[in-house]
Amino acid sequence: MTDIIRADTAGFCMGVDLALRKLDKVAAEEGQPVFTIGPIIHNPQVLNVYAQKGVKIAEGVDGFSPRSRVVIRAHGIPIDVEKQLLMKGVAIVDATCPKVKRAQRLIQRHTEAGEHLLLLGEHDHPEVRGLLSYADQKAHVFEGLEDIERIDLDASNSYFLAAQTTQDRGEFNRIVQYLHNRLQVSFPVLDTICDATRERQQEALKLAENVDIVVVVGGYNSGNTRRLAQVVQGVGVESLHVEQAGELDPVKFAGLRKIGLTAGASTPKELIDDVHRYLLELRKGC
Ligand code: SF4
Repeated sequence: MTDIIRADTAGFCMGVDLALRKLDKVAAEEGQPVFTIGPIIHNPQVLNVYAQKGVKIAEGVDGFSPRSRVVIRAHGIPIDVEKQLLMKGVAIVDATCPKVKRAQRLIQRHTEAGEHLLLLGEHDHPEVRGLLSYADQKAHVFEGLEDIERIDLDASNSYFLAAQTTQDRGEFNRIVQYLHNRLQVSFPVLDTICDATRERQQEALKLAENVDIVVVVGGYNSGNTRRLAQVVQGVGVESLHVEQAGELDPVKFAGLRKIGLTAGASTPKELIDDVHRYLLELRKGC
């Protein structure tokens, strides 16, 4: 009989869970229209459900009527956007992940002390844009060791180092070492990396060692879900990335003895349960 092994870490991280709870509460209350700035989560099925509840997605700060309720997603937003929203008289519900919030505050504190930020992160990521706004233009963003090697650093500046919450700790530690050698002075290193992504990837790798195939559930536009599927493929095990159970083809599982199941940090439990049920049904037919 086929074994189905489900990862303990499959599904929402703390920050996404918290943000969705806040949005659920606001959407359930009577009142002015509810908006999120950008999609609250990278999962089309969840977004459809919120759209049916009347939640609208805004891409900028325009189009809100005074007293509209605006939910800030887990990535956070830049300070100037928050100020513009307040000036428009909207009611802000801050669902920024506490870990991102902490990174914003730490960056602000070091910036106010006159230090310049060196930030390991993706240039165009919304979380990075938010973090940078707390550094008051005194910042360099870089995506890895090769990238920072090309950046001119002024010896008369004091620097501090931080990372986007989802960055890889190994790369971050290599950069700390590199900067120690390059700057030849000690500098503050902020601990802003969240382990949720790494824990999901490590468990996916462990699963891959023990199964014939891994099913990965989550939005096709969810970076961390796609990465889970890639990590599994990287060790030579087939992974199937699906958004919903209905996409699975029974033929794929014929003759397999062990199937792994995991999901990205933005995948709701119900969708993972659906896929789990589907795989259990399939097993009955074996
Ligand atoms: S991955 Fe970590 S930092 Fe990002 S939302 Fe989830 S808990 Fe927060």
